[in-house]
Parts: sequence; C-alpha cells; structure tokens
Amino acid sequence: MKKRVKITIKGAVQGVGFRPFVYRLATELNLKGWINNSTQGVFIDAEGDESNVISFIERLKSDKPAISRIQSFEHTYTDVNGFDKFEIVESKSSGAKTALVLPDIATCPDCLEEIFNPVNRRYLYPFTNCTNCGPRFSIIKSLPYDRKNTTMAEFEMCEDCKAEYTNPLDRRFHAEPTACPKCGPQVSLWNEKGTAITEKNDAILKTAELIKQGKIVALKGIGGFQLLVDANNDNAVKELRTRKHRSEKPFALMFPDLDSVRVVCNVSEQEEALLKSIEAPIILLKRKTRSVKSISDEVAAGNPYLGVMLPYSPLHHILMSYLNIPIVATSGNISEEPICIDEKSALEKLNGIADFYLVHDRKILRHVDDSIVRISAGNEYLIRRARGYAPMPIQIAGADESVLAAGAHLKNTIAVNKGTNVFISQHIGDLENEEAVNAFERVIDDLESFYEINPKAVVCDLHPDYISTKYAKSIGKKVHQVQHHYAHVLSCMAENEITGNVLGVSWDGTGYGTDGTIWGSEFLISDGAEFKRFAHLKSFVLPGGEKAIEQVWRLGFALLYNVYGDKALGMNDIALIKNHKPGELNLIKQLIDKGINSPVTTSMGRLFDAVTAIIGIKMEANFEAQAAMELEFAANDIDTNELYEFDIVKEDESYIIDWKRIVEGVIFDLRSGISNGLISAKFHNTLAEIIIDIAKLAGEKKVVLTGGCFLNKYLHERSINRLKEEKFKVYWHTKVPAGDGGISLGQIKYSTYK
Ligand code: ZN
Ligand code: ZN
Ligand code: FE
Repeated sequence: MKKRVKITIKGAVQGVGFRPFVYRLATELNLKGWINNSTQGVFIDAEGDESNVISFIERLKSDKPAISRIQSFEHTYTDVNGFDKFEIVESKSSGAKTALVLPDIATCPDCLEEIFNPVNRRYLYPFTNCTNCGPRFSIIKSLPYDRKNTTMAEFEMCEDCKAEYTNPLDRRFHAEPTACPKCGPQVSLWNEKGTAITEKNDAILKTAELIKQGKIVALKGIGGFQLLVDANNDNAVKELRTRKHRSEKPFALMFPDLDSVRVVCNVSEQEEALLKSIEAPIILLKRKTRSVKSISDEVAAGNPYLGVMLPYSPLHHILMSYLNIPIVATSGNISEEPICIDEKSALEKLNGIADFYLVHDRKILRHVDDSIVRISAGNEYLIRRARGYAPMPIQIAGADESVLAAGAHLKNTIAVNKGTNVFISQHIGDLENEEAVNAFERVIDDLESFYEINPKAVVCDLHPDYISTKYAKSIGKKVHQVQHHYAHVLSCMAENEITGNVLGVSWDGTGYGTDGTIWGSEFLISDGAEFKRFAHLKSFVLPGGEKAIEQVWRLGFALLYNVYGDKALGMNDIALIKNHKPGELNLIKQLIDKGINSPVTTSMGRLFDAVTAIIGIKMEANFEAQAAMELEFAANDIDTNELYEFDIVKEDESYIIDWKRIVEGVIFDLRSGISNGLISAKFHNTLAEIIIDIAKLAGEKKVVLTGGCFLNKYLHERSINRLKEEKFKVYWHTKVPAGDGGISLGQIKYSTYK
C-alpha cells in the first residue's frame, strides 16, 4: 500500500548536507515527492510503499549528517498525490525566520585530503569547504542560508563548482561558500603599509618564511584577524608583548598537528577529541613538566597550562604545513578591543604591531573570536564561547515573547530569545572602551535583525553605572534589572533545566548587590522566580577601590590588619609586610581607618587575591583574575585533604562566613615553612568545605556552582566531589561560561518569571 507523509524538521538543518542526504535516502527507498529549505526549516513531502515511508522517517533521524541538529520533527500522513520523481525545490524566503544558522565549522577530513592532494583541483586552495565544513556564521548576512545571502555572493561559481553545487549526490550540493582556485577568493600578502607584495600560494609560503624570521604577521582568519609569531622565538614573542601592551597575559598557540602538541602537553582522549572537533576551540592543556623546550617562556610564564588549538581553516592548515612549528595565534586587536575583521581597520589598529598582513577578499561580516575551553570535572567547560559555538541556541522552557538580555559588564555577551530558543551572542568582551561598546550595539542589532526579533522588554544588570544597564534604559523598552549573582544562578539553572529550589553558589570577582555593596561570595536559595541571600563571606574593604583590584597586596593587608590590628604593620616575617615600606602600609591603614575610597565587598575573587598576596605569590595583578589563577596553579598536583578552620555565624537573615581563622591558619603555616602549594590546596579545600557546611544548613538537595571563581579547576572539581560525597545533587555549566559570559542567558531566564 502507498503512503504519503509531510515532514517539517527544525533545527540546524541548512548548509549541513541535509537536502542531499534526504534526496539520497528518498531515492534509495524509491520515494517520490520533494524537499525544500525555508526560513523555518526543512519541508519534505514524500510518498511510496508504506514500509519504505516508515523506514524513511526513522532513518531521517538516525542517519542524519553529523553536524546537523534536529530541534523538532513533525510528520503527518495525507492523501497520496502521485508524484513521478523526487526533487529538491528552491528555497523559500517568506515566513518567520526560525531556521538555525550554524557556527563556523573546522575543515573536514575530506576537504583536507583534497587540499593536500597534488592532482586535485583544489590543491593548496585556502578556501576549500563543503557542506560538512567551512564558514557559516561569520559570512551570512540574512536567512535563509543561501549563497546570495552570504559574503560569497560576489564570487560567481565556475562551471566545475556549479556542477558540484547543483548535483544532489555531491558533497558540495548547496555548500553555500563553495569555491575553487578558479572562481573563489584569494589571499595576498601585504606589507605594513598595506601594499601587496605577493599573492596566492606564494603569499602563504612567504608568510611562513617571515614568521620563521621572527616577524609578526596579522592573518585574516575565519572570524577576524589573528597575530602570529614563532612561539619559540623569545625576542619575537617579547616584541609582540611590547607592541600589544600585553605584558603577562598568556598567548594562545596553534600547533601543526596533534603529535607536536603531545611533545609539549599532556593530551587526554577527551582533549584530543575536542582538539579535533568541528568546533576546534583553544583548549587549556596541562604542560608536560619535563619537555623539550619548544615554547618560549614569554608565551605563558609560570602557567602550568597552555592554550592550544589545531589548524581549523584550510588557510591555517596550509600555513602550518609550511611552518611545521607551533606559533602564537592571538587576537588581532589592541588591548581589550574587539578583534579586527576587515583590512582597513586592521591596518589602522594593528599599525605598529604587525609587520605584515596575510589577507584575502572573502569578507567577514561579524567578529567571532576563537573559543576557549578546558576539561573540568570530566566535561567540556567553556571559558570563552564564540567560534564553533555561537550562535547555536540554548533552549529554555517557559520562554515565549522575545526579550533582549544586555549581559554583564566584563566578558559581555548579549542574548535574545525567539520562543524557547535563546540565541547567545559570541563573546563581545569588556565594555570598557568605545570599540567594545560599538561592538555591543552592533551585535544586538545584528542578532535582532537576523532573526527578525523585536524584543518586548530588555533585561540588564542591577548595577546603575554599567554601560549595558544604561543602554538597556535608553532604548525605550520595558526594563527588568537582575542582581548579578542571581543571574549567574539562573543561567546555570536554565542550561541544566532545573526546576524547584536550589542552593546557588555564585562566586566571582564583582557584582552589584541589592544593598549597593559589591557582592561576590553569594549563596542564594532560589526557585528561579525569586532569591534569598542565604550566606556570604564576612565583608572586607577594598582600600583604594579599583586600585586594590590590581594591587592585590592592598587586599592582603586589609585582611591582615583586620585580624591582627596594628600588629600587622610589624609582621616583617611576612613578605607582603616586608616588601612594602611602612609609609605605604600606613597609607593603606589610613584609607581603611578613615573609610576613604574603601568600599566594602564580600567578593570571593578578592579573597583569592588577598590570600595570594598574603602567601607572597603575587603582589600585583597584571590582568583580570591573574592573582587568583596563580593561587590555583600553586595547588596543582598537591594531594591533600587538609584544610583551615573557619566560622559560620548567623546575623539577621543570613549566615556569615568569617575568614579570620583562615587568615590565621595561612600565617601559621607560612611561619612553619609550609609550601605555598600546600597552603593554597588547604585554602581551596576550605572553600569546598564551606560549601558543604552551608549546603547542609540550607537543606536544599540541589546545589548549583556558578560564577567566574568556578573557572578554577581545583575549586570546581573539589567542590563537585565533596558535594557528591555528601549526597547533594550538584550542577554546573557545560553550555555557557560559568563567568560573566553566561550572564545573558540568566537574564533571559529571569524574564520568563515576569
Ligand atoms: Zn569539507
Ligand atoms: Zn570554481
Ligand atoms: Fe560574575
């Protein structure tokens, strides 16, 4: 008996080889009918023998292309029509835009094979791609995902490419960015003034040569420019630091292949899979303690991890095959501005930084940084979510009418929802300079127009002075303000689809509290709709405000002074006291005593800073969270269950965690000659135990770990293990960053309660 079925598939089903797959399957099963793409998804109308139709439906789900993602699959049976063939019909661009755009995808093995095959017509062609790989998000102007809507529209396909593109059985059938050396984009090498020196393959060869000579080359990649330099050339890396005004923050590296990574770092199976994944992020890998020296100490001094990635575009693959050495591949920007995406801004912004520019004529429409990931607690753990991940949505129950989330101040991302799909933007960065603020507004317009979203309301942080807050209040929409640490908890609840009460452990550097002070060690009990501040650290002062965030010794002193009073000034056996002149210390004492420019905080990040300084590991932080990171590194490989004593007291409605005996314990250990590593491990263990004690007091089964402090692998894993031992159900982030990059998701979640 014949049967006819109509199928609607929504999700990431465009530009992923879905139509050829359906075509082949339908042909194999002798079905007749048609398939098309629309702005909502894929529609199929097919008929044939009943058993074949049933098997068609099953295999659509089980055999779908690896990179596609199905969000919904609906089918209905209807009257047989009498189609005489199966065909792929033109895309329709009408109707609501709900189809998903894929992120930019790393070069697939088939394309790689072609690129390095001397008899293939795409031999050494740096813009080779197919439906299984290549750029997506960085080149698409609007939906539906068709070539005419991408920056590839200006390249007319040659006959050979067209033949592949129109053949449903070809790997490049409707591979929208497809190209070849005859018809596609080309690279050229420019000098620092922007004059072309050479082009095509010679430009890549020459670039390799220049890098080997110690030059700094700006490369136009997938989502923007990267600055490249020989990773083993001390002078070159130092020069890049000087020119970029980036004195200590680690640089990411690109290695030629996995084997070369293994020379320098330990790579677990999971990390290997991630390095080779279609997302191809930067992964924080543990360095081998004893390795052949092939990475300059200037890359990430004193850091037991290296940020490592493998080539992810044909251009990177070809260049790395010529170089065959690890290189620094850092964002092509100045200080914390967004990365440059076009030649004009690169020449302007990177003037004085790059010696040469390897550019090409395929336009990048939006900046997409390299993502940063680490494995923590056995899972992929995002630090920066951009290339390979954005703009894939997170689905949250209860989201309906569209709202805009303006995100946090640092590591900003924004988000908009369309029904239950929440589109979280790529990493935008710290909204501390004009360029970043422009990018913030651009990304908002971009995501809204992309999905034709007109948000009915906007959600932002509670901080009155954040640029994101001011923006939210300026656009004439209904505004909801959400407390920062509550948004962190909501973010983690949203991605884990938690309902009911949780104890949210929301620890970070800074967030504006409902009492107007700086929070950061919050234990919040929440059912999602509301929160109660259940516990937090005893507050301490930031002598000199912002200054104390850089000069972390001020924080260390503030704690010592609080615990030991004037005696602290004479503790000359402690490096922090010894290394500062009595005048300097007295000045800080004055600030504290008189309360001049000394706001109070309960920030856990600042407690980390203070302890780092007291131990003597770091007195000044060069970049955000540096001191806290060094404290974490000190605890690496230390195996102990020891911890410090602490007190929890109830004041009014909240429990207060008093750190006095922690400070005393640290000082006692320092005086006993205990190693920094062991002190640090004990400190970390103490914090995990504080979580256990508060969790027991709260009596909530579900515990959520969120906030930037949980990017600390030791703290994160220790807390999870202890909570599991104590039979709590513990949740953490795996889809968005635990840090402020995840705030926008929490803000959207908040809107579902309004
Ligand atoms: Zn491919
Ligand atoms: Zn061609
Ligand atoms: Fe935060």
